[in-house]
This record gives sequence, structure tokens and C-alpha cells, in this order.
Amino acid sequence: MSGLALQNITKEFGTFTAVKNVSLTVPHGTFVCLLGPSGCGKTTLMRMIAGLDLPTGGAIKLDDADITRVPTHKRDLGMVFQSLALFPHLTVGENIAYSLRIRGVGKEDQKKRVDELLSMIHLSGYADRPVAKLSGGQRQRVAIARALAISPKLFLLDEPLSALDAKLREAMQVELRQLQQRLGITTIVVTHDQREAMTMADTVVVMNSGEIRQAAAPVEIYRRPADTFVADFIGMTNLIDFTADSTGRAHALGSPIEGLAVPGGLSRGVLSVRPEDVHLTAPGHGAMAGRVTFVRDLGGTIETFVEAGGKQIVAVSMPHARPDVTVGQDVGIKLSPDTCVVLKS
Ligand code: ATP
Repeated sequence: MSGLALQNITKEFGTFTAVKNVSLTVPHGTFVCLLGPSGCGKTTLMRMIAGLDLPTGGAIKLDDADITRVPTHKRDLGMVFQSLALFPHLTVGENIAYSLRIRGVGKEDQKKRVDELLSMIHLSGYADRPVAKLSGGQRQRVAIARALAISPKLFLLDEPLSALDAKLREAMQVELRQLQQRLGITTIVVTHDQREAMTMADTVVVMNSGEIRQAAAPVEIYRRPADTFVADFIGMTNLIDFTADSTGRAHALGSPIEGLAVPGGLSRGVLSVRPEDVHLTAPGHGAMAGRVTFVRDLGGTIETFVEAGGKQIVAVSMPHARPDVTVGQDVGIKLSPDTCVVLKS
């Protein structure tokens, strides 16, 4: 297979297992984001892909070749790690040309490649500038160009945008994705920012406690989370306990949910319902009973918090569909069966 394959990768530090039996394929030319809470093993996994750490078990293959024990400099990688800053005393051009120079590429070819890369990162004419005189976003782009100078097979970035302010970060996410698509380069990015992952990735890999919980397209992760961890970690959701009666009909918050098919054998579990799929109605008529406890008007969206069956449920609406409710008012909650994801508790 062309691309990267992780096969049952495990990393133990003494008695602690930081990465547990992780298997993942990253097809050539795709963009994968490793996403998860602090300490879930993202960086450890990335360091093994980069060859900075050896796995204690499993194999890493790049275009079918086993690279598990191949040293970093022989892996054909471009890396942008938070800790690998630009060389401060060199110019932009010298930074980008660095890896070309140590590979013995001639001066003329170095200059040609630097100009090409500068144009790609929208910094044409900056070659002679000292990096100390660049803005944060410009530095980040130079770091990306430096990593891409040798046209690597694999592009690895660990929290590449975390030092940037929110606006610049969002702009750089789009730029990075567009650049990756133009070059068709297999790319893996570590991030703890789900919006960043959803913006850039073909496949989002959600990790927790050293394990992959789900690897899928962003919209799939959002609409069809594999478990309660993923449902809760990605965006806002309502996790609502349900029980199934003998006919397989689900009951939640004291009312049946008509038309919801519960997989056979599951007598109880949890429904994940996104706030935009919670509809508030007048009380009665078979709707679940709730009472409004808080309304948060964010301008673009309105979040209505409702207490129902001892649980807090959040409904999100757009301003044009603003629910006509006030705090303390009794309301009905309607869930449509096709928007309820049935999960094991
Ligand atoms: P963050 O988002 O905070 O960077 P992460 O998901 O990248 O977190 P890792 O840095 O991979 O997490 O760490 C995973 C776990 O492994 C953590 O509990 C960490 O303390 C542990 N760990 C990482 N490196 C070592 C090491 N060299 N020795 C012992 N434990 C380590």
C-alpha cells in the first residue's frame, strides 16, 4: 500500500503504557489529524512515526517498507514540531535552504527551490530577511517551507499553530490544508483543537488513554460518534440514558421515542443527540417534559438549557428559528429518531 501504515504500535514507559496497540493506515496524499485530550498519547505516537522514539511493539511501514527502526534522517520526512524553532541567526532563505545545503544541492538549485517555496507560502521577496524580523504567522510558514524543501514523502506537524493567536491560527489552518492539497503530500498533524482537526483533515483520529477511539471523516465523527467519549469530546452533545422495552422501543426522559430502532439485545444505553437536533415545542402531545433554566444568546446562535428528568439538555437554534421561551417556562422536547445515535453506556 502506498502511504503510511501503523501496525499494532505500543509504547511503554516503564510500567506505563502511553500508546496501546494502535493500528492505522494513512493512504498516500491524505491529511490525518491526531486529536485527543492532553496526555492521550498523540505526541508519543508522532515521535515514533518520526523515528524520534522506538515503539516497544508493532511495526511502522512507509510505502510498504518497514521503517520501524530506520533513523529519522533516513525516513524522508518533513517535520514541524513546536520545539524545532527556526535558526534565529539565519535569513529566511538560509533557513529554507538548510536541508538542501546539507544534502549537497548546488547553490543555483537551492535558490530556485527557495524561490519556489517562498512563492508557495506567499512570502516571495523575503529570502534575505532575518527571521527575527518576521511575524509569528510568517515564521510558521517559513518553518513549513523549510520542512517541505526536500519534497518529503511524509509531512509531520506537532501542534504547528498553537503559538498563534486565534484569528491567524484559523487562517493558517485553511492555508495549510490548501497547500497540502496542492502538493498531494501525506500529512499527519497533532492537535488538541477539534475545530482545527475538522478544518484540515480527511481523517480525524480521536485518541484517549493511548488508544484510538475512532478514525473517520470529520462529519462522520460528528454525526456518528463511535462511543460516548468521542460524542462528548467532539462539539457539544446531549448524552441521554435510555432503556429499551421488550419490543425494542427506546424510552428516554420518561417518554418513548417513536421510530428509534435500538439494536437487538441492547436493553439500555445512551443516546447522543446534538443540540441542533433538539426541538423545543409546547408541552404535552407526547413530547418529553422539561423546564427552561437558562437562555444564552450568542448572536449567531441561541442556546436554550432545559431541565428534563433530572438532566440538563441543550438545544441550539439559529436566530430566525429562535424558540419563543423564557426561563422557568414548561416546554416539550422532541427528538427525531434519525438524529439520535445509540451508544453503549
Ligand atoms: P499533550 O496534548 O499534553 O501534548 P499528548 O497526547 O501529546 O499530550 P503524550 O506527550 O504523548 O501526550 O504523553 C502520553 C503519556 O505518556 C502522558 O501520560 C505522558 O506523561 C507519558 N509520557 C510521555 N513521554 C514520556 C517519557 N519519556 N517517559 C515517561 N512517560 C512519558
